[in-house]
Amino acid sequence: MIVCESLPDLRQALVPLAKPLGLVPTMGYLHDGHLSLVRRARQECASVAASIFVNPSQFGPQEDLAAYPRDLPRDLAMLEADGVDLVWTPSPEAVYPPGYQTWVTVERVSAGLEGERRPGHFRGVATIVTKLFHAFQPQKAYFGHKDAQQAAVIRRLTADLDFPTEIVVCPTVREPDGLAMSSRNTYLDPGERRAATVLYRALEAARRAYAVGERDADRLRQILQAVLAQEPRAEVQYVSAADPDTLQELHGPVERALLSLAVFIGKTRLIDNVAVGDFVIARSEATKQSPE
Ligand code: AMP
Repeated sequence: MIVCESLPDLRQALVPLAKPLGLVPTMGYLHDGHLSLVRRARQECASVAASIFVNPSQFGPQEDLAAYPRDLPRDLAMLEADGVDLVWTPSPEAVYPPGYQTWVTVERVSAGLEGERRPGHFRGVATIVTKLFHAFQPQKAYFGHKDAQQAAVIRRLTADLDFPTEIVVCPTVREPDGLAMSSRNTYLDPGERRAATVLYRALEAARRAYAVGERDADRLRQILQAVLAQEPRAEVQYVSAADPDTLQELHGPVERALLSLAVFIGKTRLIDNVAVGDFVIARSEATKQSPE
């Protein structure tokens, strides 16, 4: 496995790699969720590359950039064990040198949910993903359903900026008790860790209600709220039943919805989601709405 820090070294290391190339972008502190993306890429691509970069521009001023967990030697060992060919570990200065002033903004699909509660987050995500796609020129790129709005933003960006990259969205990998794997789970103390299972229990309750015929989006949100309210350590930031293409909040009867939530457990902000109905995260909006 080749590990590069500078962009010129990365470009040189990419030349001999067989195509198709699959890219797995990460912020490191890897777990089985990340590795599921690597394994899917390994199955589908002749070469697999990963990036490890805690992207400062997607963190707000009050967020956990400095505290974000990091363990590069462990991450590299895990990627090597899963057959990754190339890893890029740039410094923040290499990605955003002095004088940097170019940003990518995806508009409507970034506006609600995470975008509303984390102003600037998706501008940071869209910018780093654009830079990664330019650097690696991958035929395929792998993202997790865990960050469903992010996947929708990246699909939109890829279509709008004509990247010849297929976006593959992989299922959320969970702990045995249902908690979605996340690097941020390491912030939880044992009591908080137990409380954190309420996110999955809430989503499961709404999913079961849908499965037995509940189609009212407002009622599905109420079910999410009701289960979360049973956990005193959970401070709900939002619950949502949204259109999976536009991420607009839905009301009344629905056939398909992305049910998602953001909840503080102590100081740790956790997000999770499930899809109800038959759909793929964010088909092109183009058939539904013309560009502004
Ligand atoms: P991060 O390092 O948190 O930026 O995540 C890197 C990629 O891994 C993103 O595409 C995430 O959606 C994905 N990911 C994170 N956690 C999970 C999980 N539990 N299951 C599947 N994919 C995940």
